[in-house]
Amino acid sequence: MSPLRLPPLPTLREIIRLYGLRAEKQLAQNFILDLNLTDKIVKYAGKNLEGAYVCEVGPGPGGITRSILNRGASQVVVVEKDKRFMPSLQMLAEASEGRLQVFNDDILKFNMENIFPETVKKDWHGDLPDVHIIGNLPFNVSTPLIIRWLAAVSNHSGPFVYGRSRMLLTFQKEVAERLTAPPNHPQRSRPSVMAQHLCQVKHCFTIPGKACVPTPDVDIGVVHFTPLKEPLIKLPFHVVEKVVRSVFHFRQKYCRKGVEILFPYPTMKELTNEVFESSGVDPTRIAPSLSMEEINGLCLAYSAICDRIPGLIDYNYR
Ligand code: SAM
Repeated sequence: MSPLRLPPLPTLREIIRLYGLRAEKQLAQNFILDLNLTDKIVKYAGKNLEGAYVCEVGPGPGGITRSILNRGASQVVVVEKDKRFMPSLQMLAEASEGRLQVFNDDILKFNMENIFPETVKKDWHGDLPDVHIIGNLPFNVSTPLIIRWLAAVSNHSGPFVYGRSRMLLTFQKEVAERLTAPPNHPQRSRPSVMAQHLCQVKHCFTIPGKACVPTPDVDIGVVHFTPLKEPLIKLPFHVVEKVVRSVFHFRQKYCRKGVEILFPYPTMKELTNEVFESSGVDPTRIAPSLSMEEINGLCLAYSAICDRIPGLIDYNYR
């Protein structure tokens, strides 16, 4: 069966002209108007979106939305903050024969837990649900949003009430490199560990900035995330986040210095020694060189100390 396709529509440039949709620089809006490129992006969500449930965040004039619909998704929910795009997205909804629902909302406040039917839900440890989140958002939204969604992966909330929903999101190229960097890579940093301990993360390809209108100052990395059945570090998100933040605080210094700031005086030295003794990690290593197993060891050692000392988890350096 061939996927459902949209009927002939005005081009995106015509839509922009028709509805007066000038990109707002202060909202960091850049549009992808080349439908071959939006098709290429969407292909990385999965070879086949026929029958899939997709939430697209920040659709703007709807280029990526058209590609999702043309690949045969059965339900597409778009969440767009800027109300100027509503008429053109509504026109697309009419052309989609009931497959597209449009929400004028802020994705940072939008509740994704009830948008798709119960029947799409899959057990976390079973098959992947046919649920995909796709978005080319401004970088100042996508970067905090991925941290929030990684927290949601860890407690199976938000978009992950359906199971291990996959995400295809764009970032500034350097952030995409950070998210996927292995140990010892120049870009290995806090987001690398936070993303990779919860998801299989793939930097699919880079979109040159000049492919967008207007042209942003940077290139764009397209990143795909598949949540893991079991996180590599089996501790609550905030515990892992705290240890990883501290360890990477002094990137190029001995990792011991980063672990020290997890503890207040006067116990700092003694508890830091305990972390390294019980984890077996060499305290003279630098954070970017640590493997996931070593970071796991540091997190477990810190968590065991927190279990023993009430209130320690709430201690914050500075
Ligand atoms: N996805 C479109 C494309 O590729 O051509 C537009 C990309 S533009 C970089 C980002 C879009 O995200 C804009 O339409 C903007 O209004 C929208 N947006 C920004 N912040 C948002 C938020 N918090 N919630 C929902 N949409 C948002």
